[in-house]
Amino acid sequence: MTDRLYEKDGTMLDFEARVLSCESRGDRWAVILDRTSFFPGGGGQEPDSGCLGSCRVVTCAEEEGEVVHITDAPLKEGAAVSGSPDKEIRFRRMQDHTGEHILSGTAHRLFGCDNVGFHMDPGLVTVDLSAVLDAGDVERLETQANLAVLDDVPITCLFPSTEELDGIQYRSKGELKGQVRLVRIEGVDLCACCAPHLVRSGQVGLIKIMYFQKHRGGTRLTAAAGLDALDDFREKSRSVLEISNLLSAKKEMVAPAVKNLQEGCEGLRRENAELRRRLLGYRICQLRPCGGNMVLFEDALDDEGLRELVNAGAEKCGGFCAVFTPDGTGGYRYAAGSRNMDMKKLASSFNLAVGGRGGGSSLMIRGACTASREEIEKAFSKPDGSE
Ligand SMILES: [Zn+2]
Repeated sequence: MTDRLYEKDGTMLDFEARVLSCESRGDRWAVILDRTSFFPGGGGQEPDSGCLGSCRVVTCAEEEGEVVHITDAPLKEGAAVSGSPDKEIRFRRMQDHTGEHILSGTAHRLFGCDNVGFHMDPGLVTVDLSAVLDAGDVERLETQANLAVLDDVPITCLFPSTEELDGIQYRSKGELKGQVRLVRIEGVDLCACCAPHLVRSGQVGLIKIMYFQKHRGGTRLTAAAGLDALDDFREKSRSVLEISNLLSAKKEMVAPAVKNLQEGCEGLRRENAELRRRLLGYRICQLRPCGGNMVLFEDALDDEGLRELVNAGAEKCGGFCAVFTPDGTGGYRYAAGSRNMDMKKLASSFNLAVGGRGGGSSLMIRGACTASREEIEKAFSKPDGSE
């Protein structure tokens, strides 16, 4: 049975051990040691990777009560090896995980609520609390949790007997079987958990709740601790600085500056729509009557503009009026209508001529096509009536 060093002290990472067994598994090897600080995963925390002798431990797993190290090369049975899980990855996970215990314990103390769900992702944790919290509550929770970090209290692991356990109040998500391991953050939290934790609350560094939302009758917090909180802060600072420079606004004024910009854009959009409407009016006035077909090209027409121009053209020509507007991907959207011809019947030959797809009623068809302007102009009778 492997002695699991991380169960007592999560921060002691480098270790010496003896290889108990090594068996091949495809292009990997499964190694069992007499002692290890590699965590095989559990309690929401991912398994460790790292180095074992000259091998790379790609992952670890819990199998039939053993910690199995999956390596990229074999190790000799009976050999002495030194091991070392990837420190920064493991440390970040312990900071996030310990931060989560502090948040949950503090939430229980402040609001009497329970942690009913917990998930760790790279760089952040989500914590589901059974109480509905508002922004003020969340801020209070964050401050109190960080004060517990500043207190730098010891974090210890307890292995109570079944009788002792009966007399202890601790957090747990379900019925526990076998030896229960309790992680105690002095004065803050006592929780059943199998994962490695830090040994002092000060090592968490900082706990930041990034956002919160209502979730299943309670509150879901998304938070980061320690180095992950620093990364988040760094990224957001960079982003705010960039926005501040782009908008020439003070860093603390970027939100109102963006709101101003949005309002400005909305005004321009309205003005632009009005100008386009007027421009279309002039375009319609300029249409000259013609006996044959009328083929027009017009930039940036919306569906309504397209229909309006086709209807105006159809009134002034003897054949059909077809209007093409660029679709933004190198082709055209089109509409074509006539007062004398059945457009529905004409649709297939029209589409064939412009490499298009579309259809509609006997009065008007619409669609999209891939032909170039030259090809379209060539396909129909000489464009007529436009200018
Ligand atoms: Zn835990």
